[in-house]
Amino acid sequence: MSTRTSVTVRVPAKVNVQLAVGAARPDGFHDLANVFLAVSLFDEVTATPADSLTVSCEGPDADHVPLDRTNLAARAAELLAARHGIAPSVHLHIAKNIPVAGGMAGGSADGAAALLACDALWGLDTPRAELLDICAALGSDVPFSLVGGAALGTGRGELLTPVASGTFHWVFAVADGGLSTPAVFREFDRLAAAEGTPIPEPEASPALLSALASGDPDTLAATLANDLQPAALSLRPQLADTLAAGLDSGALAALVSGSGPTTAFLVRDPESALKVAAVLDASGTCRTTRVAAAPAPGATVLP
Ligand code: ATP
Repeated sequence: MSTRTSVTVRVPAKVNVQLAVGAARPDGFHDLANVFLAVSLFDEVTATPADSLTVSCEGPDADHVPLDRTNLAARAAELLAARHGIAPSVHLHIAKNIPVAGGMAGGSADGAAALLACDALWGLDTPRAELLDICAALGSDVPFSLVGGAALGTGRGELLTPVASGTFHWVFAVADGGLSTPAVFREFDRLAAAEGTPIPEPEASPALLSALASGDPDTLAATLANDLQPAALSLRPQLADTLAAGLDSGALAALVSGSGPTTAFLVRDPESALKVAAVLDASGTCRTTRVAAAPAPGATVLP
């Protein structure tokens, strides 16, 4: 067993630069071709020895984070402990900066961070492949939170292949209130049924992958795509105003991040990021903004 008194892990949020969604499968999940990009907007999870498994959370959205065993950080600690036949005797403190229920995989990030923090605290040295298995059991986006960088996710999004990415600058507009990811997928199914046209197999766009590798923001701007955007806009029509405000202020492209309601704006450089963020803040179409660069590293133990 390790003698460490606490371990803190920093973990990034993600944006999907492509989110291609297939038809609903018999098990209710959708096949995806999901190009993930980790962005420099981080939560930190600190694991400290305790008599039993407890969770606390600080940050602007802390009130919306469950502190019971449904918290993905707690579930990660439980799964890791069960795999090693030990008790999950740990306190997990989440310093939350990633918007909650915002389509940026904040809960998944905390799950990956807690897994790594507990593994180090308990001195387990679990092989990376086993950690990734536990991540996939926790949720489709959790493996990417562990790995970070840029990756193509297939299956439910959990089968990852790293992809090349240059540096890109982003602004995120955080909306008031979250959107439930299952509700957005249900709306996707409803809109698809109403339209009546068959849904193609989801495939990663070669043009997007090459734009990502090139590091050229104008080329990437022309290829960004999110199949969940119409569903998110249907449930939250006001997001169209946020997207328009960001584009009017000079963003190269705008899209809903994952299942939303956070909106993501690709910008040319850090200076235009500050300008776009200031205009969005003043526009009254969002609660707040965050500026970030990508790709960011995955979950990392802090010294
Ligand atoms: P995704 O992008 O992966 O679909 P999201 O970013 O939209 O997810 P999350 O912030 O992960 O959404 O939160 C979704 C729900 O998960 C929350 O409403 C909350 O009830 C629950 N949850 C469980 N653990 C956490 C956590 N550690 N942080 C935030 N929410 C959590």
